[in-house]
Amino acid sequence: MGIVVQKYGGSSLADADAIKRVARRIVEVKKSGHDVVVAVSAMGDTTDDLYDLANGVSPLPPAREMDMLLTAGERISMALVAMAISDLGFTARSFTGSQAGVITDSVHGKAKIIDITPGRITQAIGEGHIVIVAGFQGVSADTKEITTLGRGGTDTTAVALAAALEADVCEIYTDVDGVFTADPRIVPSARKLDKVSYEEMLELAACGAKILHLRCVEYGRRYGIPIHVRSSFSQLQGTWVVNDPTPAGTEEETMEQPIIAGVAHDRSEAKITVVGVPDKVGEAARIFEALADAQINLDMIVQNISAAATSLTDISFTLPRTDGQTAMTALARIQGEVGYDKLLYDDKIGKVSLIGAGMRSHPGITSKFFGALASAGVNIGMISTSEIRISVVVDENAVDDAVRATHSAFDLDADEVEAVVYGGTGR
Ligand code: ASP
Ligand code: MG
Repeated sequence: MGIVVQKYGGSSLADADAIKRVARRIVEVKKSGHDVVVAVSAMGDTTDDLYDLANGVSPLPPAREMDMLLTAGERISMALVAMAISDLGFTARSFTGSQAGVITDSVHGKAKIIDITPGRITQAIGEGHIVIVAGFQGVSADTKEITTLGRGGTDTTAVALAAALEADVCEIYTDVDGVFTADPRIVPSARKLDKVSYEEMLELAACGAKILHLRCVEYGRRYGIPIHVRSSFSQLQGTWVVNDPTPAGTEEETMEQPIIAGVAHDRSEAKITVVGVPDKVGEAARIFEALADAQINLDMIVQNISAAATSLTDISFTLPRTDGQTAMTALARIQGEVGYDKLLYDDKIGKVSLIGAGMRSHPGITSKFFGALASAGVNIGMISTSEIRISVVVDENAVDDAVRATHSAFDLDADEVEAVVYGGTGR
């Protein structure tokens, strides 16, 4: 039988008992005849605690040292899980990302995996061991430095390992039973999706659904790895992330293709407005080049038509709050060159997104969405769309209301409450 790759998140590894429970689950799979490779996150809120600790020591910790610090969290859990497995009479070998052959680029704090050379993993499997890999980390091919993949990166470690090892499935164990139509912490009546397509999951993840790391879904899609998102606290089937679950034109599609997959929200972004940009060729290019050079991922971008009298325009965009300072500094540096008037920074925003592949063929989704927001008294700040998504920026305090109103307007509520949040502090 083939290789099963599993990932356990921090809330599944919160304390010694939780670790023993996870070890029993891993051993069950091994007993059923599979080889098992497990990617682990740091225990509980360890990563957040390490962040806090670093900030207590230094207001601006060097990125290299931050990665050295944060990767320690996953090393703790990998060793403890391996110990718990050996207590059950099985042998396990734990490896850091670097030992496991997770090769990344050299960007500290958000490195991308560029290759996996799993020699030590396959050797350990060959010797009959269960393999435990520290998630969320790798080593840079150029600089030889230890890197991290960004918050939630252990999902990506798991799927990348599954691809490199040609595993049958990648199981992502978390503290809810799967992917829901909205965050059950905000909408208790949210419904679990049995299946969701990679493309919808990509949009959900990109729009703040924290259940899966964005790059893990990209990886899964590229290599065709079925991802099974499920709870480590129950035996229930979770959500399968697979290729278009209902092929176009089939009877099944017409019968039950849901139009909307879910509502996602994100409170981690900020908005920057560049006020008074001269309306001429090359200005936007110059602004976004400066942001690209600073390694900033942008999300929504809106440029207003210029006021005829001044031929000046405003450009607004959203970006991760954590990059706010870097972006403001990068833009300030080119003020003279571009000749804009000033910069505005707003981090009291949230983004609410409606996602569904069925949007392509169903008119009226936008008006229903905006109507729901209006009845909930939510004002829309910015709008952006893709073929299967509509996102709006709203006031940070209006996010919960907006999510609930949208969820019920599209009849996404479950008949009976099925969302159980088993663990985690939601930090
Ligand atoms: N421990 C890291 C984090 O909390 C990575 C992960 O959990 O996937 O972001
Ligand atoms: Mg975590």
